[in-house]
Amino acid sequence: KDVRVPELRQNDELSELSTMFNQMLDRTQRYIDQQSQFVGDVSHELRTPVAIIQGHMQLLDRWGKDDPQVLADSIQASLKETERMNNLVQEMLDLSRAEQVELNFRDATTPVKEVVMQVYNNFKMIHPDYTFVMDDDLPGEVISPIYHDHLEQIMIILCDNAVKYSTNRPEVDFSLSRSANFVEIGIQDYGEGIADEDIDKVFDRFYRVDKARSRKKGGNGLGLAIAKRLIEGYHGMITLESTLGSGSVFTVKLPIIEEKD
Ligand code: ADP
Repeated sequence: KDVRVPELRQNDELSELSTMFNQMLDRTQRYIDQQSQFVGDVSHELRTPVAIIQGHMQLLDRWGKDDPQVLADSIQASLKETERMNNLVQEMLDLSRAEQVELNFRDATTPVKEVVMQVYNNFKMIHPDYTFVMDDDLPGEVISPIYHDHLEQIMIILCDNAVKYSTNRPEVDFSLSRSANFVEIGIQDYGEGIADEDIDKVFDRFYRVDKARSRKKGGNGLGLAIAKRLIEGYHGMITLESTLGSGSVFTVKLPIIEEKD
């Protein structure tokens, strides 16, 4: 902070330059703060699986040779935690790549309806105990400037959550519509919902409304952060409406660059 230059309150190029210099410094400082916050968050997230594996190794060391049950349980538990760490590392890579999107998506074009239908059909197949409804208001196909894999990833994150957090009423409704130059994809569930004070926070990385429960369901709290960064990188928007106890609707808006019959 002591490298800031004094603001010169004159109307000349030197004053302009001093203001610009200070703004650049502020931006760099914010970036550094975010990065160190990220490293802190990551270390915190890794601590739990590492501690669990360490605990099981100590159990194995003490009783593993004599007790086949300890042997089997500890190996299973440790494998589960290593899988979690693997997922966490993969998701962190996804998040850091999502932050780069804006720089290089100029050649991306994807038929939105095709991808949404594909994910919808896959989820129907994977979760036969759920009801999936599709409300398609689009007369034809629309093309958005986004990479196919990224749109698919966004859809999978939102649908996985809809399924994960709505075991009390297993239904997920999809909708496709347009407003002005945007295509709107809605994913609605009738599950546990999210309280008002958590609505903005769920898009923060590592934020989980109920840490223990989300952890049990395999969640790292990175899915929505990845989805939001991807969507905004492609100049789209994601919004959430939710009522605690009765369900959530996530709406994704993406720009349309072309329409087809
Ligand atoms: P996670 O891997 O924990 O699911 P996400 O970033 O995808 O991480 O979601 C963050 C948190 O938001 C979740 O832990 C959960 O508490 C809440 N959440 C996300 N989607 C839903 C939903 N459809 N219904 C209720 N809560 C949700």
